[in-house]
Amino acid sequence: NHLIELNNIKKVFVSDDVETHALTDIHLVINKGEYVSISGPSGCGKSTLLSILGLLDTATSGLHKLAGHVVGDLDNKSRALVRNKEIGFIFQSFNLISELTVVENIELPLTYRKDIDKKTRRALAEAALKKVDMSHRSTHYPSQLSGGQQQRVAVARAIVGAPSLILADEPTGNLDSKNAKLVMDLLDTLHEEGATICMVTHDPRGAQRARRVIEVFDGRIIADSGARTQTTEV
Ligand code: ADP
Ligand code: ADP
Repeated sequence: NHLIELNNIKKVFVSDDVETHALTDIHLVINKGEYVSISGPSGCGKSTLLSILGLLDTATSGLHKLAGHVVGDLDNKSRALVRNKEIGFIFQSFNLISELTVVENIELPLTYRKDIDKKTRRALAEAALKKVDMSHRSTHYPSQLSGGQQQRVAVARAIVGAPSLILADEPTGNLDSKNAKLVMDLLDTLHEEGATICMVTHDPRGAQRARRVIEVFDGRIIADSGARTQTTEV
């Protein structure tokens, strides 16, 4: 039932002979279907943790498992394949490609998948668009949409490949409160449908939605509301 296992994870950045211990002694188990929020002050290591969970960066030491893979054993290419199949990303700044239409943006993560042909790709993208209630904007370009609409498209892109994990980095950071609520409601729905979500947020209203709250300080997990249920389930 474990989707993610981090065992004694450490991340040290070295630049100009200066070592930054961004993460120290991180132990974390996340089960399928959990909705987790990660919070903590600026510079405490949230982005680094999310990058490692998202296989965008690798830990300096420790054991990291995702969906049965030992991440440290994967070469770059296999890591990219696992990332593409298992993880959907939602960013604060939406990160849509301005030269592509809405539906093309959503198809993008699927173009790296050899098991999905062009026709299926389009069908899956249309279905994801419908889910975020943006079907009427399928041929628009990102610049023609409001921030809230762009983030809904980004959510569609994150879920189109049915990933086992959705990672969201301050997903409402650039949205007004009405659109923030809309995107949070959408994440709630995805969670109710079985998605595993891990979200970094400064927004206390966002953190409240998550069923499990993890607090990071100075590169360490200093509080984890789900730690107890986790050990009893092992
Ligand atoms: P947060 O997301 O909580 O603001 P980060 O994970 O971005 O924190 O950063 C944690 C620490 O690691 C900070 O001290 C930051 O300056 C440092 N850091 C992050 N990324 C890098 C990097 N690529 N090179 C050097 N130091 C980094
Ligand atoms: P946020 O807290 O909004 O996530 P950060 O400033 O912590 O933003 O990080 C933004 C990006 O810059 C991240 O990808 C992080 O890895 C990188 N970064 C952060 N601190 C440093 C640093 N000291 N040197 C190099 N890159 C850094």
